Amino acid sequence: MQCNWCANPEGISPQFSLFYREKKCCSCGICAKFCKFGAIAARSHEKIKINRNLCAKCEIFQCAQVCPNEALSVCGKTLTFPKFDRIIHRDRQYWDRKGGVTFSGGEPLFQKQFLEDALKFLIEKSVHVALETSAFSKKQDFLEIVKLVDFLFIDIKNIDNDKHIEQTGVSNQIIFENLSSLSKSDFKGRAIVRIPLIAGFNDDEICIDQVAGLMTNLGMEEINLLPYHSFGETKWAHLGLNYKCSGTVSPGSEVIERIKRHFEEKKIRCYIGSETDF
Ligand code: SF4
Ligand code: SF4
Repeated sequence: MQCNWCANPEGISPQFSLFYREKKCCSCGICAKFCKFGAIAARSHEKIKINRNLCAKCEIFQCAQVCPNEALSVCGKTLTFPKFDRIIHRDRQYWDRKGGVTFSGGEPLFQKQFLEDALKFLIEKSVHVALETSAFSKKQDFLEIVKLVDFLFIDIKNIDNDKHIEQTGVSNQIIFENLSSLSKSDFKGRAIVRIPLIAGFNDDEICIDQVAGLMTNLGMEEINLLPYHSFGETKWAHLGLNYKCSGTVSPGSEVIERIKRHFEEKKIRCYIGSETDF
């Protein structure tokens, strides 16, 4: 699944990715000399060109290590459990009683085994956990994971399957089947639907009414409206990816308020942006 508006495109690939900030590049060409795959073409006074197909084989990202201007960097880290433990131990002192850990993405269920181990580890330490997921995963994985979390944020992008495929590359059927399974499960946490609001894609009355209807049928009582923003656009360029949402806009504030009222009339609690009540 790859949403065209994704604000964290560095999380789309399960592999490490190379980030190239062209503005920081002084065209010194050092990176090209150290790349043993010949993936970088460098000419004096010109910005480098990267053949990213060749980077797929690379494990050491030497180009990023030698770049004097941090124009090249690596997206992604390997996180071991001892390190994870140290981070939790370090940060816990800054949380108040409501603090905890949120697993976000990309898609956390993409790394199901690590996620499951991490959640069990946190439960042992009595740490609250939240999960942000597209719910686009195998049903068994989804149900095994959600029973380990306190707060569950699940995206619904569009009820119309054709529109969903057009903007995310996948059908929404698996997502709805997982939501249905969730509603029949003994999940005891708090499940909040999130909808990225995109003008002309999912802000019309039909779509909003369909989302509200689905939620009512599934017994889901809370929704978080996330108006579209383009903050991730430059990251797509840094990763050498084509951002397909240029020119896309968020619905205006009047439309967002109308959508909020629509959900509230259906007895669904509705939060805009970061308003979600904890
Ligand atoms: S990531 Fe690896 S293959 Fe790609 S340009 Fe850098 S050193 Fe070369
Ligand atoms: S080493 Fe860094 S600054 Fe030099 S050409 Fe490569 S990316 Fe640009």
